[in-house]
Amino acid sequence: MARNYDVIVIGAGPAGYIAAIRASQNGMNVACIDEWENRDGKNALGGTCLNAGCIPSKVLLESSELFHRAGHEFSKHGIVTSGVELDLATMQKRKQSIVRQLTGGIVGLFKANKVEGFVGHGKLLADRKVEYTPKSGAPEILEARYVILASGSAPVELKLAPFDGERIVDSWGALEFDAVPKTLGVVGAGVIGLELGSVWSRLGSEVVVLEALDDFLAAVDRDIANEAAKQFKRQGMTIHLGAKVTKAATSAQGVKVEYEDCSGAQSLEVEKLVVAVGRRPYTEGLLGKDCGVQLDERGFITVDHECRTRVKNVFAIGDCVRGPMLAHKSSEEGVMAADLIAGEIAEMNYNVIPSVIYTAPEIAWVGKTEQEVSVSGRKFKTGSFPFAASGRAKAMEQTGGFVKIVSAADDDEILGVHIVGPMAGELIAEAVLAMEFSASTEDLQRTIHAHPTLAEGMHEAALAVDKRALNYINK
Ligand code: FAD
Ligand code: NAD
Repeated sequence: MARNYDVIVIGAGPAGYIAAIRASQNGMNVACIDEWENRDGKNALGGTCLNAGCIPSKVLLESSELFHRAGHEFSKHGIVTSGVELDLATMQKRKQSIVRQLTGGIVGLFKANKVEGFVGHGKLLADRKVEYTPKSGAPEILEARYVILASGSAPVELKLAPFDGERIVDSWGALEFDAVPKTLGVVGAGVIGLELGSVWSRLGSEVVVLEALDDFLAAVDRDIANEAAKQFKRQGMTIHLGAKVTKAATSAQGVKVEYEDCSGAQSLEVEKLVVAVGRRPYTEGLLGKDCGVQLDERGFITVDHECRTRVKNVFAIGDCVRGPMLAHKSSEEGVMAADLIAGEIAEMNYNVIPSVIYTAPEIAWVGKTEQEVSVSGRKFKTGSFPFAASGRAKAMEQTGGFVKIVSAADDDEILGVHIVGPMAGELIAEAVLAMEFSASTEDLQRTIHAHPTLAEGMHEAALAVDKRALNYINK
């Protein structure tokens, strides 16, 4: 007889493992199947985020930023350093150790929450039956009252520059370099291109980024994107906009990339090339012929606003469904699906999902850009506060960037908050909370912020919306 569960989750990335834990907290009998295999052949929970995405990239961003500051910034504080050297092997070992601690942590969480973990491949069949195929061994049929699909995403490959794992690599490959490439090409000036470009640039690579679009960070508020572009340029990262790759040829020495931009045909020779032109939903071998779950024209699993597929009691969450490909969006969908299954009221507010790019300066935003509000026709007002006027930012020697708030002119609603500057990824949480609670700009103005903190920048920007900033001359 088939083993029977209340809920089977396929995929244990931030979407799936969180859904499994919440379903179990809701009193369900839960199984979670995951096939992730690391380069050492070992399986691990946590999916892309913990093994090859958010966590290893942030560890290297932190380490490389410290290395850069030790060499370039400490002297301004009166700290004399000499002989600052890079030990990349130790840096990479630390990264692996943090990844291992966190992925191991999920094993502990599953145990504590009584989630049954299965290592191997899951495939949805008709009538909520799931075929589980272990790494070695025969397939087994499991049954469930509910199934949650959380199979994640994979990097987009360019036909003109296919990954070879050596010279032309994806983001995972670019997190694993065991030597700093002298020259590094990056195709795509998106989140991954900028984060990983920053890591290797700080560690000594000469980095050239090729971006197909004419606009830099096209989805980001223009003021923020322009400031970020200025700062990246100052840091020595070369970003070519409107650059269309036409050919990439590898050799023992590196990669010769040919591209076209507004000045005509160009070429670039680099030791390594990272292709970071987006990710696509991953559903290989996930859906049995008769399971009834549908994919849209871009390969995403079709779901409604509650993450329900067209098949009764089958949900899909995370990167394999529409919406931004972000870990926190994925996890919150996991919570919503598990709570809906338990008969509770649950919903996602897709309008207030924060985005963060963990470069230096960091870039973070929530809600609408000034350009989006302008196109919508709603009357608006804006206020900004530069970190150059912040005592705390000066103490940190990080005065680049600013906070910008876009508010409705009619009822004072906060429509968007945009930050480029130190700790932007932490500061944005206040804006998310304010918008989630439908706070007005005046609510932020009347909220006491500790002094001296970077968060005062948020307070002053809110005041500036009504030309009442106190520590900056209103424009
Ligand atoms: P995944 O994390 O991809 O997990 C899916 C899991 O399902 C995997 O373990 C996979 O092996 C397994 N699986 C798939 N199919 C099957 C099957 N049939 N049977 C069994 N198992 C299966 N997001 C952020 O919010 N912040 C960041 O800082 C950030 N940094 C990133 C940096 C990089 C370099 C990359 C590549 C991504 C980053 N992301 C970041 C994006 C984030 O990693 C994803 O949005 C997130 O991992 C999506 O979670 P998920 O659970 O939907 O999918
Ligand atoms: P992205 O969509 O952020 O950026 C891809 C960039 O490549 C775009 O600017 C696009 O115009 C450009 N591009 C596309 N085709 C091109 C071509 N042929 N030549 C040159 N440029 C081209 O995608 P990404 O950086 O690969 O990241 C993938 C996903 O991972 C994103 O959806 C992101 O949300 C997620 N991620 C998030 C974080 C974070 O939250 N900090 C970090 C890394 C990744």
